[in-house]
Amino acid sequence: MKKQKTDQTKYIFVTGGVLSGVGKGITAASIGAILKAQGYKVSIQKCDPYLNVDAGLLNPVEHGECFVTHDGKETDLDLGHYERFLDFEASKYSSVLSGALYQELIEKERSGGFHGKTVQLVPHYTDLAQEKIEKASLESDIHIVEIGGTVGDYEGLGFIEAIRLFANRVGRRNCLYVHVVYVPWINTSKELKTKPAQNALKDLRGFGIIPDMVVCRTERPAPRSMCEKIAAFSGIEGRAVLNLPDINSVYDVPFNVLKSGVIEILNEFTGAKKAPDMSRWEEFSRLRSKEHSKTFTVGLVAKYVGNEDAYICVTEALKAAATWNDLNLEIKWINAEEAADEDFASVDGIVVPGGFGVRGVEGKIKAAEYALEHDKPYLGLCLGMQMACVAAARRGGVANANSEEFGANEADGNNIIYIMENQKGKESTGGTMRLGDYPAQLKPGSRVSKIYGSKEVVERHRHRYEVNQKFIPEIEKGGIVVSGTSPDGKLVEFVEAPKHKFFVATQAHPELKSRPLHAHPLFMEFIKSLR
Ligand code: GLN
Repeated sequence: MKKQKTDQTKYIFVTGGVLSGVGKGITAASIGAILKAQGYKVSIQKCDPYLNVDAGLLNPVEHGECFVTHDGKETDLDLGHYERFLDFEASKYSSVLSGALYQELIEKERSGGFHGKTVQLVPHYTDLAQEKIEKASLESDIHIVEIGGTVGDYEGLGFIEAIRLFANRVGRRNCLYVHVVYVPWINTSKELKTKPAQNALKDLRGFGIIPDMVVCRTERPAPRSMCEKIAAFSGIEGRAVLNLPDINSVYDVPFNVLKSGVIEILNEFTGAKKAPDMSRWEEFSRLRSKEHSKTFTVGLVAKYVGNEDAYICVTEALKAAATWNDLNLEIKWINAEEAADEDFASVDGIVVPGGFGVRGVEGKIKAAEYALEHDKPYLGLCLGMQMACVAAARRGGVANANSEEFGANEADGNNIIYIMENQKGKESTGGTMRLGDYPAQLKPGSRVSKIYGSKEVVERHRHRYEVNQKFIPEIEKGGIVVSGTSPDGKLVEFVEAPKHKFFVATQAHPELKSRPLHAHPLFMEFIKSLR
């Protein structure tokens, strides 16, 4: 649905050079946060050159956590950054992978949709990419597009050509090209080397794009002369080159952008007259850097230990909740494969996040058992809820309770968690889980209904298995009650241990909806309970 507006949407394209993984996503999101704080309706999209169709089957060790949009698309974790910085809900249009474009083109070709024409990268792929960009931008004043990888990668060329062509579609003045480059510090000669960045800019020019802004990522703050040198070589104004050194918190990046001359470039592009209202960001930054009097420790019982990217929404939700609760948080990684009672005893609270596959599952069950027995605050997310129910059922008399995902079955009478009826046979296929927003009804008087302050909540999901309600008596005997279900009552969505200080688990992924400026209520209450 097109938003009522007379102005042409403006587009900001963010590309990368030299190296990938140096913060293009954070740069794009920070620009977005500033524009939003100026009152614009901003949307943001990632175009990734992978031949995968979506991120659902990608390995979290290599690619980090899989983010899920409200409308059920499995995407790259950058969309999580976008949602956190822009405090908006991305949609299935916000993520475009090359594989999906090729799939659409090939399906159209196979069904005769091209009427005998040759199907080519240019114009068919590039047109389709532009259509996807346009579609994702329909309701916004400003639409930001981040192109994954670096300019010059074979697989990304289609997108680079598409964004170049896009200027013909909407007018060059409605497009702002931002190139993010890495400038390495060479320790032996003690100098910053701009050559790779110059070459990266030359590559971009070779594809017909002269950027309007260049962002130089460095390890440490660089002298202005570096920016001036890069500006001279790339044929753009000095004020259009910004140095973004590594800093402690990504949430301070918007402040660095604001302090620099590029804000003038942005204002000239958008026509903005007023300064952004960053007061909430400032408050968040002040609280975050404050010396809190107390430090609490949360044990994250994980399979990919120490790999923050694999659980980034969970750690971000915990950190935001700690900040707004005015306390220091230490996240202690507990290896689910080796977890023992001493590990659980050494922390103030336990989080068992989502996961797939049998590895480390016993450690997660032990974590829930320990929390139930020792009244240790516990927050279970998706698999963390399933394992909490397994732990309770074991306590309630089903000695070998488990999930069908890990070998339990109907015949053995131990499938506390079983596969959803409509998921049978789809176990290894992409895009087929129960994905995205689903509502849950919360039991009146329950802990969760008080936390949410509501009888009905909507959270995002990504799972195939569910609680087998046949075992509710055993689960209850083990100390856990169901406190929220799908509106038809068929699916367990929330459980809790009523006598505990804090023991709440959900089939959903509330961490996906937590924002730095609006920490999620479940995380807020969990952190509060650590005191
Ligand atoms: N593996 C479990 C399922 O598919 C839990 C999924 C998750 O934690 N996201 O139901």
